[in-house]
Amino acid sequence: QGFQDYRLGEDITRALNSLGYKQPTEVQRKVIPSALEQKDMTVKSHTGSGKTAAYAIPICEMLKWDENRPQALILTPTRELADQVTQDVMNIGRYKRIKATAVYGKQPFSRQKVQLQQRNHVIVGTPGRLIDHIEKQTIDLEQIRYLVIDEADEMLNMGFIEHVEKIIRELPLDRMTMLFSATLPGDVKSLCHKYMDHPLDIEV
Ligand code: AMP
Repeated sequence: QGFQDYRLGEDITRALNSLGYKQPTEVQRKVIPSALEQKDMTVKSHTGSGKTAAYAIPICEMLKWDENRPQALILTPTRELADQVTQDVMNIGRYKRIKATAVYGKQPFSRQKVQLQQRNHVIVGTPGRLIDHIEKQTIDLEQIRYLVIDEADEMLNMGFIEHVEKIIRELPLDRMTMLFSATLPGDVKSLCHKYMDHPLDIEV
């Protein structure tokens, strides 16, 4: 199975070539075909496996460039990961001119507010600051069709469970939800049961 089997658009294929991604990694082979069919899924995988591209490739492929409102939301436990994911999405979506913006604490709220008013396809953020934007109504989540919960176990370890649930409840029900986690403790599993529709269980 190679990237050519996924029938990705020319712009995404070109980006993968320029990134030097020749073959999908194991997690990508397991995730991308089902993600392109918009199936909910729980993916047990580690950093370094290529998990970011496993969700970023299908999401970039499916995003509609000419829609003005954010279509994908990616939750991360840390600012560092939010920046990394934003960069990866922009790299994979480069030739499709996908715009992603990172939203997290310890950064001026007002600047993020301005960034969120511009056209963004993807929002990547940490739970606390996303809640601030939701409460101040400075973020538009009404057209989110793709939700990724990355490093879910870390996020819950850091005490973000209520924030995460509050954010999910703001999103349209008609969406795909993908959860990535290195481990699947009980609280992560119950999050899946509550907010996903017959999720596939993928293990790498
Ligand atoms: P991640 O697990 O998402 O942190 O990715 C680990 C590293 O693998 C990153 O530096 C990616 O750029 C790289 N990577 C992801 N997918 C591929 C691929 N198919 N071929 C080569 N490198 C990749």
